[in-house]
Amino acid sequence: MAKQRNISRTGLTGPESGVSASAAIPATAVHSPFPVPSVFRGGSGGRVEPVQTTCPYCGVGCGVLAHGGEQAVTGDPKHPANGGRLCVKGASLQETTGLRGRLLHPMVLGRRVRWERAIDEVAGAIGNAVAKYGAESVAFYLSGQLLTEDYYVANKLAKGFIGTPHVDTNSRLCMSSAVAAHKRAFGEDLVPGCYEDLELADLLVLTGSNTAWNHPVLYQRIKAAARAGRRVVVIDPRKTATSELADLHLALRPGTDTVLFNGLLVWLADTGQLDPAYISQHCEGFAETLASAREVAFAPQKVADICDLPEADVVEFYRWFADTSRTVTAFSQGVNQSLAGTDKCNAIINCHLATGRIGRPGACPLSLTGQPNAMGGREVGGLANTLAAHMDYDTPDATEQIAGFWGRPSATFLAKGPGLKAVDLFEAVGDGRIRVLWIIGTNPAVSLPDSSAVREALAHCPVVIVSDCVANTDTTAYADILLPALAWGEKDGTVTNSERCISRQRNFLPVPGGARPDWWILSQVGKQLGYGEAFGYETAAEVFREHASLSALNTGKRLFDITGLSGLTDQAYDQLQPIQWPVNSQCPGGTARLFGNGGYPTPGGRARLVPIPWRPPGQQPDCDWPLVVNSGRVRDQWHTMTRTGSTPRLFQHRQEPFIEAHPQDLAEHDLAEGDLAWLSGPQGRYLGRIRPAPEQRRGEVFVPIHWNRQFSGEGLASSLMAPVTDPLSGQPESKHGCVRIEPFPALWHARLLRPANADRHWQADYWSRVPMADCDSWWLAGAVAVDWPREIVDWLGGAPDLVMSDPAAGRYRAARLVAGRLDAILLVERSVQALPDVSWLASLFGHAELNGAQRRALLSAKDVNVEDIGAVICSCYQVGELQVAAAIEGGATSVEALGASLQCGTNCGSCLPELKAFLERTLAPA
Ligand code: SF4
Repeated sequence: MAKQRNISRTGLTGPESGVSASAAIPATAVHSPFPVPSVFRGGSGGRVEPVQTTCPYCGVGCGVLAHGGEQAVTGDPKHPANGGRLCVKGASLQETTGLRGRLLHPMVLGRRVRWERAIDEVAGAIGNAVAKYGAESVAFYLSGQLLTEDYYVANKLAKGFIGTPHVDTNSRLCMSSAVAAHKRAFGEDLVPGCYEDLELADLLVLTGSNTAWNHPVLYQRIKAAARAGRRVVVIDPRKTATSELADLHLALRPGTDTVLFNGLLVWLADTGQLDPAYISQHCEGFAETLASAREVAFAPQKVADICDLPEADVVEFYRWFADTSRTVTAFSQGVNQSLAGTDKCNAIINCHLATGRIGRPGACPLSLTGQPNAMGGREVGGLANTLAAHMDYDTPDATEQIAGFWGRPSATFLAKGPGLKAVDLFEAVGDGRIRVLWIIGTNPAVSLPDSSAVREALAHCPVVIVSDCVANTDTTAYADILLPALAWGEKDGTVTNSERCISRQRNFLPVPGGARPDWWILSQVGKQLGYGEAFGYETAAEVFREHASLSALNTGKRLFDITGLSGLTDQAYDQLQPIQWPVNSQCPGGTARLFGNGGYPTPGGRARLVPIPWRPPGQQPDCDWPLVVNSGRVRDQWHTMTRTGSTPRLFQHRQEPFIEAHPQDLAEHDLAEGDLAWLSGPQGRYLGRIRPAPEQRRGEVFVPIHWNRQFSGEGLASSLMAPVTDPLSGQPESKHGCVRIEPFPALWHARLLRPANADRHWQADYWSRVPMADCDSWWLAGAVAVDWPREIVDWLGGAPDLVMSDPAAGRYRAARLVAGRLDAILLVERSVQALPDVSWLASLFGHAELNGAQRRALLSAKDVNVEDIGAVICSCYQVGELQVAAAIEGGATSVEALGASLQCGTNCGSCLPELKAFLERTLAPA
């Protein structure tokens, strides 16, 4: 529930906070302090050059060219991450750059105010809280979507000047287990390899990583680089689109990865396949680690039992690993998001260290980060337990050195020890220890586990400040102060991808309304708090130079060293090309791989193998909650949809929150494809559409993480997840909850089409909103009968002009026209299968006036001139299942033939696994 506050009660600041109507200002009074960039940068001879920038979605960090005209965005052929490729999300970026739904002006307690006033309010709230309750009553919650420059200033302001250590980030939910494991093994958070290693490997082990959907361009690179004899092992409880590449798929019992990799270490030792020279020269802890592994995983048979795998498959994997010196093990959230996430990462790293498979072409453990700048955040100390430039609170002299660099006497560098990690931080918000919470660029009301408790905490926090580019998210509903940030296309700075590659994100759109860069907003607050000199930045380049200069504290001690970039002029910063750190006097052109010759930044210079006990997941199924629930992303959406939710074509792949389960489990619960079902757990419940999935293990269900209260009534996956976290990394166990499933007793199903942002006067037990090009369409269902003729005015926003009713069949249809335009249409049926496709109706919302034939066809919902293509498989070319089926019927029996006939799969390639699966399913009976 959104906050309803009165000013005197919150006592934000000023004479009774003083946010009066007179503080409101007209749009014309807002000025941008920044030069508005030209849309395109003039090249030589008057040529207009596209702007080189980077994709803001996943950790692959693809280079993007922003053009003018119809071809607004293409892949940058010169960027080392993607070489010109983009997935469908990247290729749709231009569709997200409009101003619809943007937050464009500062707001305090729901009223628009000048920037000066907003900064005053933020600084006043922080200052008051520090004075009354101490610095630790203030917290920041940041995002892997921020640019490094934004992150740097936030961390400096919070830890170095306000003096609170409570600065955490949504990257905690994504890869903090990998960070903790890197530090345990290597002494520093270091990714040893690079993307090229994925192509050079002879054995590629993808564990807990649906690369085809979550890192699609890397998946395409891997696929394109398949070499003779190259093998792929996919380790994942689910058979995903990535499994298409697998020579061996190990669908292990969730939470048993450490057993599988401990067993590998034992098997390698017992068969004489280790690298004793590398172990003795560069490692420590081997004997204890092997002894610990033997306690659980002493033989493949034991491993197979615990992991619920065929013993032959376990041995096959172990043999391949032993036989293949060029092995890369890539891992992501399926490993990280676990009670034992850090242990899982270290179990993988142990096997690579013990075989010397690290730092050489085609050989490394490789963490694939989820977000575009999770790595940049790690570099500046964006996690609560870290400090700037990869230093920690336990790094000798770190606080004094950083304080000195920032011009603070060490005594006043107040953050003395690690702060609260995300889940604990929101618990502290809930119990009143945190009085002022500043959330920047993220949506914790949706993404954190136990979302009801998080929302409750936000509702009761005395001051919630939210910086965002989007006006209405589940989190902005709780904000006392809203600060408008720049969006992709307007921001200027740097990001670091999963392979340590720093790239520029450049602006190519004008600054809209009163929106400002996050580093600027933070700096203004710093100045207002009296730290003027330290926050006098005028450009992102200045911030970057300071960040790079600070890394000189690492020279000779730690590997994060980008001093080679500390002297960039503004022009050189503007023209900076992608470069992998370290970048210093020893390696001025950057560094692709680390540790080929050892050189670990530990006190003894050796990597550490870590003994790994087996810890099962925190929640186990029982009579009340008999099913295991797993959560993850879908191919065409990103996080909580704040950006992808504005792109209609990205909804064509999956339109509603869903539940995937094994057909036999569904049959046992009297559920079938298309039904709606409740999942209920100790924390909350979730309502979604059933998708039978034979590839799902029995007793386990899968739900997507994206849907939230802006797009669905009860489709919040995080409401099912307990706040169980890894004790080392603090990362929540978002891959393993426990639930029960029950049919939703729908009496009616409906589709409603209304203009976007139309007023809502109706209630439905189930609703899910699908943005279309010219309207919003809604999937609806109810467990209580509705008197449609009586209530239709509420649903259509006015009296209907056309009505068709067949109560005996449970059918009701009504449409409303305003001045000849279609304004609303509702189609009700007893079963969801009886509902017609609405794409033709949706297209009519773009017509200024309907003609007679269109009016007559409205309630049949079918224009004979418009082809029903079925569910979309290829989002790039909008090719649907019915078209693919027809092409297969016509003789296209390979994905290549389908591509030649329909173009499907020939752009980003993200749909190729689904095309192949559809092809196999369709051809199977023959
Ligand atoms: Fe963006 Fe797709 Fe590249 Fe990820 S793989 S960075 S989402 S274009």
